[in-house]
Amino acid sequence: MILTNQTICAPATPPGTGAISVVRVSGKNAFAITDKVFRKKNSGKKISELLSHSVHFGNIPDGDELIDEVLVSVFKSPHSYTGEDVVEISCHGSAFIVQKILNLLIRNGARAAEPGEFTMRAFINGKMDLSQAEGVADIIASDSEASLRLAMQQMRGGYSAELKKLRDELIRFASLLELELDFSEEDVEFADRSMLLESVQNLKFKVQSLMKSFELGNVLKKGIPVVIAGKPNAGKSTLLNALLREDRAIVSHIPGTTRDTVEEEITLDGILFRFIDTAGLRQTMDAVESIGVSRTLEKVKQCKTLIYLFDVNETTAVELQNEIADIEKILGNSKPNLILCGNKTDLVKNGMENKFQSIENIYFISAKNQTHIDLVITELTAPFVSGIKNAGNATVTNARHYEALLRADESLSKVIGGLASKTTNDFIATDLRHAMNYLGTITGEITTDDLLKSIFEKFCIGK
Ligand code: GDP
Repeated sequence: MILTNQTICAPATPPGTGAISVVRVSGKNAFAITDKVFRKKNSGKKISELLSHSVHFGNIPDGDELIDEVLVSVFKSPHSYTGEDVVEISCHGSAFIVQKILNLLIRNGARAAEPGEFTMRAFINGKMDLSQAEGVADIIASDSEASLRLAMQQMRGGYSAELKKLRDELIRFASLLELELDFSEEDVEFADRSMLLESVQNLKFKVQSLMKSFELGNVLKKGIPVVIAGKPNAGKSTLLNALLREDRAIVSHIPGTTRDTVEEEITLDGILFRFIDTAGLRQTMDAVESIGVSRTLEKVKQCKTLIYLFDVNETTAVELQNEIADIEKILGNSKPNLILCGNKTDLVKNGMENKFQSIENIYFISAKNQTHIDLVITELTAPFVSGIKNAGNATVTNARHYEALLRADESLSKVIGGLASKTTNDFIATDLRHAMNYLGTITGEITTDDLLKSIFEKFCIGK
């Protein structure tokens, strides 16, 4: 059982030193417990007598000793993040002070909060649904404009409303079918079968379009995998560096799982890309059997975009055509966006307009001189920028939601099959209820303690 009758406390700001730190207290005794540790300046008023959403200056002593001068913000139930009485104590940003205040609160009856417990209470108290709560975690974790925007959409309700509509419709159908069961003796039909079929097909289409949005949502959240491939010395590292220079965000270096793949995260036009710098693709093609190389191949197959870089001075059109054919063979059914880049154009003396005439869509660049890198960036970001525009509010980014949609879709297939084969109402109604329940797990109408635990334990302490 998830207990919400206790008052919880936790630091709401990251550990370490800073200008200020905030300690949050939530629960039915939040005010009484704070009264025991906080001495408000020039007033003997209790916290419960203060206005909601007001801030008060005072001291927190421990016996004769002053721990800190603090500001206390008061939020009265239900107008708080958790929906409960909440106090936020802003103290000086010292981990030591924070610990002292927490110890005092705990000594006076509060309990240290579990990870995500404040947000879990917000969910339990109806301040937000489950997908919105997960949106909160995504906002905290977001590291690019695109992932922040998607998380923000989700936290603000995103596709919750759409899901609710779908679910309500399913509930209506299931009830009609179940009503017929009650009157089965009299052979009445409340739900017109052909209308029902049409509506379920319509619902399935909507569920599937949400599922489809996950493809975009997932990569935008995690970063779009891009591979730069090409022969040794084509200029792959130089191009990667040129792209890094365009990145105005923080750059992190993630060593790959193998020695020959290295990942760089780069934000271009607000979208996070994960560049996988593979060993020369030529070697890859020549030695498919070696383990390192097959890992590289896996990376190539998983990427969303493949930049194939070649040296315009060292490559003939026929060679390039063969290389493209080889790449297409390697890619097989995975069809990433292929961007062809002819590099080292700065070394070309006599023009090369005609040399690669037979091959379409080549970007002629100089990675070293940063020529036409902007065009490559536009080509990289364009499919995702337009995807974001078209997706509107309904972009699924969460794997748990995707899984629930998948299960709902399967149940709807059974409903459609059942209607076509004139299965009895009780089976169809059961499948409808299954679909409904799967959709309900996304927003949290249907939950279990285990599900809540597994979601909120991934949150940080104090959120
Ligand atoms: P990689 O093996 O594909 O990663 O190639 P590198 O990025 O290490 O580049 C190989 C060599 O080509 C280096 O000496 C680079 O300075 C040079 N290079 C890369 N791009 C250009 C370019 O656009 N113009 C010229 N002139 N040299 C380049």
